[in-house]
Amino acid sequence: MRQRILPPAKIGIIGGGQLGQMIALSAIEMGYRVAVLDPDPFCPCACLAQPFIKADYTDVVALAQLVELCDVVTYEFENADSALIDGFNINGKIPQGALALTLSQHRLKEKAFAEFLEIPCPKYWPVLSHKDLFKLNDFPLIIKSCRYGYDGKHQYIIRTKEDLKALKLEFPSEYIAEKLITFEKEISVVAACFKDGISLFEPFENVHVNGILSTSRHPALISPQLQRQALETTEKIAHALDYIGVLAVEYFISSEGLLFNEMAPRPHNSAHGTIEGCTFSQFDLHVLSITGSSLVQTRRSSLTMMINILGQDLPLALKKFSKCDPNETHLHLYGKKEARENRKVGHVTLCAATLNDLQKDINDWRNNS
Ligand code: ADP
Ligand code: MG
Repeated sequence: MRQRILPPAKIGIIGGGQLGQMIALSAIEMGYRVAVLDPDPFCPCACLAQPFIKADYTDVVALAQLVELCDVVTYEFENADSALIDGFNINGKIPQGALALTLSQHRLKEKAFAEFLEIPCPKYWPVLSHKDLFKLNDFPLIIKSCRYGYDGKHQYIIRTKEDLKALKLEFPSEYIAEKLITFEKEISVVAACFKDGISLFEPFENVHVNGILSTSRHPALISPQLQRQALETTEKIAHALDYIGVLAVEYFISSEGLLFNEMAPRPHNSAHGTIEGCTFSQFDLHVLSITGSSLVQTRRSSLTMMINILGQDLPLALKKFSKCDPNETHLHLYGKKEARENRKVGHVTLCAATLNDLQKDINDWRNNS
């Protein structure tokens, strides 16, 4: 890692979605300038960028321009081209590097990596051909494309041989079949990896609806033993990746104990509540770590519940917001041009000092309409 990069240096962000936007807001607040590369000139980050580079993520000339213009570069999504990231990571200019990206953008590689570290995962099978597909018999299963899946996209629940026969998969695309876990809870751990140490947020407790994150509670209501195990496991992953920046790991809590689901080498939706709930948010820690700060520990100052707003829910969410206690309800809208169905357009964070108060805020939010 190079020297500390101080403001007003320029941070380049590959990807201009809401994660890029919140990284940019945090960076700008600290006095950095940001440049953004994204194919969509109306993406959430475009208005913050100086300059905004409208280009495809695989446009080598545009990427070279971004790297040249900036003092440090980050990516905000895991489908950035890992070979290009590796190629442009000269002198550690892209501190997150390509290894975590290469592993996390392919579900089979990611699971093999977890197993290599002796971290338990749901039982899984590679599905690389029709032959692999029709060999499967340990139902119920969930079949996922190895690449380009997010928010439950390209995932199929298979309960019977008939479901399997009806499934139309295209090869040579690669898939993974996983045992469908009956989990008690889903949690995530978000780690900020600095050049000299790792800072960990307490686990987040996540509820998904139709494969899309719906709510995240911080901290998760789990036993101290499970909390310790989740933090230690995440630390082990972070160490093995030799990674700088924020990294998130998702787990299931099941009768088999803690099971690794997936990881993301970037800030994570489940930790948006850290903007209000912690002394340094996940975005602050991402900016600080990639600019070469030494270890920063963050403290939780509030209990939080983060509630995602999907396109179709926006009118109702605004109505609820207007009726909730403004002292405890923080609204974030990402400025997306269209409020599309099942796409995240914003979130709300409810803050409280006690579990009872937080529950009251949650009930108010649910009951207001
Ligand atoms: P992504 O978040 O990239 O879309 P995930 O693998 O995290 O993909 O799957 C989305 C959600 O689907 C999970 O958060 C979980 O609710 C459910 N899910 C995924 N894999 C399993 C599994 N093996 N068993 C049970 N539920 C699963
Ligand atoms: Mg997930």
